[in-house]
Amino acid sequence: MKESSVERELRVREKWEKDGTFERSISNREGRETYVFYEGPPTANGLPHAGHALGRTIKDFVARYKTMSGYQVLRKAGWDTHGLPVELEVEKQLNIRGKDQIEEYGIENFIQKCKESVFAYENEWKQFTEALGYWVDMEDPYVTLNNEYIESVWNILSTIHEKGYLYKGHRVVPYCPHCETSLSSHEVAQGYKDVSDLSVTAKFRLKGTSNEYLLGWTTTPWTLPGNVAVAVNPNMNYVRVRQGSEIFVLAESLASIVMREDYEILEVMKGKDLIGLSYEPPFNYVAVTNGHKVLGADFVTDTSGTGIVHIAPAHGEDDYKAIKDNQFDYVNVVDSKGRYKEYVAPLAGQFVKDCDVEIIKMLSKQNLLFDKQKYEHSYPHCWRCDSPLLYYAMEGWFIKTTAVKENMQSNNQGVEWFPSHMKDGRFGNFLDNMVDWNIGRNRYWGNSAKRLGLSRLQ
Ligand SMILES: [Zn+2]
Repeated sequence: MKESSVERELRVREKWEKDGTFERSISNREGRETYVFYEGPPTANGLPHAGHALGRTIKDFVARYKTMSGYQVLRKAGWDTHGLPVELEVEKQLNIRGKDQIEEYGIENFIQKCKESVFAYENEWKQFTEALGYWVDMEDPYVTLNNEYIESVWNILSTIHEKGYLYKGHRVVPYCPHCETSLSSHEVAQGYKDVSDLSVTAKFRLKGTSNEYLLGWTTTPWTLPGNVAVAVNPNMNYVRVRQGSEIFVLAESLASIVMREDYEILEVMKGKDLIGLSYEPPFNYVAVTNGHKVLGADFVTDTSGTGIVHIAPAHGEDDYKAIKDNQFDYVNVVDSKGRYKEYVAPLAGQFVKDCDVEIIKMLSKQNLLFDKQKYEHSYPHCWRCDSPLLYYAMEGWFIKTTAVKENMQSNNQGVEWFPSHMKDGRFGNFLDNMVDWNIGRNRYWGNSAKRLGLSRLQ
């Protein structure tokens, strides 16, 4: 009778095991040139899936090819035991949620639970690996929670520090207010959802006038209590227009769309003529010594809005940079859980993303609402917990990867990619758009190998 594929698989596995074929493929090449392979470590607190089968197959045939070419191919397995997935799994197990409850449970105890959970599926992984015929030394793996491994990471960091590439900075990052951690661009890309939000055109009254306003536009009304400036494009044309008893300033090219009808143009000027003008902010919850002025910024365009952009330094990368460049005050009215801080009195403690409507009502009460519009857009949500993300300025540690950008770009050109479009496509684009690498994660259970890029092949 013909042998079935399952029978054949078992027969070959048994023979490999009995003969020690994998071990002998290494021992009988003693003295040959080595080709060392370190497993991009998977996380053993979850079950393997089809993606792992694909990755392991690809890794295996590279190692086999090198073995057949005569190299002694050492293949070390690894386990990534750190990172948020572990914490989330333990949170689920203990039926707790978020930092407060973790701290109530006790950090030491929590970490102990994390340690216990990381090898929950080690046996399933071993079986899976053997069933695939994937040759790797699982008897002597490297494990990210072992001190030798941790020391090697410290060593890498210290080398980076010696080169002057490690720094503490502030950066506006995509941030999950529930997990209380920033997310990498790769993580952000996993959680986009179509949602409907409100954009607002607010009236920023020019100081020394009773009826003259800059029309500032924002797609995130909840950031208005943190306003520090408004931005114009120095090279664009702006107009002063009269409508009824009020005078407004906005981009010339957008005037007919924003004002609609019954307005009269009083004056045309350049954006740079507006720079430095002072205005009354719509909300007065924070004291700003340097700010509440018009600044010039090239990122302001006339493709939408009013050509005048509301600036809240804690919630936009461009905003943050503009404030720094102009040496205006930095303010952040939102706490680490995404709620308004106490001094934003009427809204204190509320989740900011839920407050757009309330903010609009408050503007309207003060006669500072010019217009509001519903718009549909794709907004990032946390891939782990589904919370809408916020752009949030966080203090953290960064590796200055941009300092070696050109080096990496030219190295990439020397790599033979399969498929070849990856070289200038996905990977090339990633290198072209590189930003400094925020390696900090404000969590409890260590840092992961992934953070240090050691598992690209996982
Ligand atoms: Zn989250």
